[in-house]
Parts: sequence; structure tokens; C-alpha cells
Amino acid sequence: MTTGAAKTNLLGLPQGRLEAFFAALGEKPFRARQVMQWTHQRGVTDFDAMTDLSRKLREQLAETAAVVVPTPSLRQDSADGTVKWLFPSGSGQAVETVFIPESARGTLCISSQVGCALDCAFCATGAQGFNRNLSADEIVGQVWHAMQHLPRRPNGEPAVTNIVFMGMGEPLANYRNVLAAAELLISDFAYGLSRRRVTVSTSGIVPHIDRLGDDCNVSLAVSLHAPNDALRDRLVPINRMHPIRELLEACWRYAAKHSNRFITFEYVMLRDVNDSAAHADELFRLLDGKPAKVNLIPFNPFPGNDFERSSADTIRAFQERLRRRGLVVTTRKTRGDDIDAACGQLAGKVTDRVRSRLGERGARTAVA
Ligand code: SAH
Ligand code: SF4
Repeated sequence: MTTGAAKTNLLGLPQGRLEAFFAALGEKPFRARQVMQWTHQRGVTDFDAMTDLSRKLREQLAETAAVVVPTPSLRQDSADGTVKWLFPSGSGQAVETVFIPESARGTLCISSQVGCALDCAFCATGAQGFNRNLSADEIVGQVWHAMQHLPRRPNGEPAVTNIVFMGMGEPLANYRNVLAAAELLISDFAYGLSRRRVTVSTSGIVPHIDRLGDDCNVSLAVSLHAPNDALRDRLVPINRMHPIRELLEACWRYAAKHSNRFITFEYVMLRDVNDSAAHADELFRLLDGKPAKVNLIPFNPFPGNDFERSSADTIRAFQERLRRRGLVVTTRKTRGDDIDAACGQLAGKVTDRVRSRLGERGARTAVA
């Protein structure tokens, strides 16, 4: 997804940066809005087809810039309608994007990094290690491609109504590029999604939760997965740097900045690890009275990992125990598992640079 001859790829530039680009060409700011609409809304990448730009400007653009979109190396369609694409990310590597159609919405799950350095114990992406951050155009390119290649919904809406940063990578460890992409997702001149329909999911990089709260109030999901530090240290190693108390305080600050919008807490259900009644009670005490909802995720197994999924009965009992006392709790349906597209199964193709550099897995959290 590079532009070759040092041309600027306009695909990943949010409005402010695109306006600065046009200012440098001596052009008015509205040119940025025009090019955004052509690119993101009409899917046009050829400046020559952008007919409301003067011929001179189109020629000037062709010399200095390009709109470079990604081409997947593979598309897989699941029996349940889920679609997974593999997008090359250089040096033989690739990241994955998943589309999950439902009657009320179409959710696109996008990747933010090639691999992930945070090494959560139950995650296929983490097990692959980390190679690099995706650029803003590589992140937005996943959305561009899905919008162009999926049929519209029966009601005429675009196929993708919701976007979650829940693919490969830790979005808040690639803050600048994720923010640029999120700005485009909610811009009226690009994808025009409401902030409620764009969700950044984080394992808990606390300083960047605060930053996101100031910069862009999209919805926030937090991968909690354990109700105490001893267990969370083991499952989500970033917890050793930012323990639960610190993480939750950042969550409540985030919620308070945005009229107490609910934060979603993701909780992967691991048999005999975090799924007992005592764990449910402990979780309840953390979230009681707060703007919080819980999303239970049945663990999705992958090769080389020993965890097991909690039984359906255990998950139901855990959910009921929290619900009875007034928490909003949902359980995520597993989708696309016949094409390895379910939560936590996205492995892509990653050459781990961190493990080879630091020589040990535990040291990987140091790069967060
Ligand atoms: N890095 C971010 C976003 C990507 S992961 C984060 O951790 O939040 C999206 C969700 O899938 C996270 O809640 C993650 O913990 C969860 N997940 C990871 N591995 C999983 C697995 N094997 N089964 C079920 N959920 C998993
Ligand atoms: Fe990274 Fe999220 Fe997987 Fe943890 S769960 S290793 S933060 S992608």
C-alpha cells in the first residue's frame, strides 16, 4: 500500500491534514472536502474522474499525490455470511478484516497493527508477536474496500453500519494512525458514521484512553477479562503496567467526558479460569453503579493454545448472576468460525520482530 515515487497517499488523510495539503498547493480548504467525498463516498481513486476539480488541479494532483487503496490477497465467505479478507502488509505479511452481517446492522472488524505486542494469553494475534503499526491509509483502506465490495443492505444503507477496532492489534498502541482513521470514519465528508457506531477496543493503555477521550469521543470497549489483578496480570500482561483500578478510573473519566456514555467491558469466558460465581461477584463489585455494560465472549480456540471455552451453561449462569443485580450483560455470538474469523482467531501473517529482538515473550509488553 505504498505510493511509490514519494507521492502522498490521500486515502488516510483526515480533513485537517488534507486541507493543509491543499493549502500547500495554494488551494482553498473546500478542495479537501471534495476529494474526501470522491474517494470515500463514491469510491473514486482516479483524479481525472473528479470532475468538479479544474483540469489544472487534477494534473497537479496526479504529479504529487495518489489515492492508493489496498487489494486483498484472499477473501473467504463463511456459511453464516461472515466475510474475511487478508490484506498484504509488505514483506510477505498480511492483516485480516472481518465483516459480520446481522439483521439490524453490518459490523466491520478492522485491524490496526501487523500482529500485537501485548501478548494476551488467550489471543492468536498476540501469539504471533508484533511487526509494525498499520498506517492510517492501511486502516481506512480496509473500510474503503469493504464499502466498495459488499452489496448495500436491503434498506439501501451501505453494507457497513458499524466499525469496531477489534481485529489484529492494539489500536491505542498505534494512537496517531488510529485517531486519523477514526476521524475519517465519523466525518460527514467521508464515511459519516455516528460516534456510537465506531468502537475502539483496548486492552488498557491508560494514558491513551485519556487522550482518546479528549481527541475523539468514539465508543470505548475495554478488554477486562478478569476481575482482580492477580488473574488479569496473567491473562492480559499490560495489567502489570496499568492495573485494574487505574484502568477503571480512566474508563469513568472517559465516560464522564461524554455524558456518561456506557463503556463496554469485554470478558472472554475461559473454562475454570475466570468463569466462577465468585468471579462474577467480583466483577459486579467493580462495575456496580457505573456506566458499564458487559459483553461476554465465549473463548475461541486456536492451535497451540490450551485454554478451553466455558460451557454454555456456565456462560448463561455467569450472565444471569450479573443481570439479576442490574448489570447490562450480553453474550457475543460466535460468527465465522468455519473460516477462522471469530474473535481472537485473527492471525494473518506476521513476522515477529519483538520476540526476536528482546529474546523473551514477557519483555514484549515493554514496547507498549
Ligand atoms: N487489542 C484490542 C482489540 C483486538 S481483540 C483488545 O484487546 O481489546 C478484540 C477482542 O477479542 C478483545 O476483547 C480480545 O481480548 C478478544 N479475544 C482475543 N482472543 C480471543 C479468543 N481467543 N477468544 C475470544 N476472544 C478473544
Ligand atoms: Fe493484542 Fe488485543 Fe490480542 Fe491482547 S487481545 S494480544 S491486546 S490483539
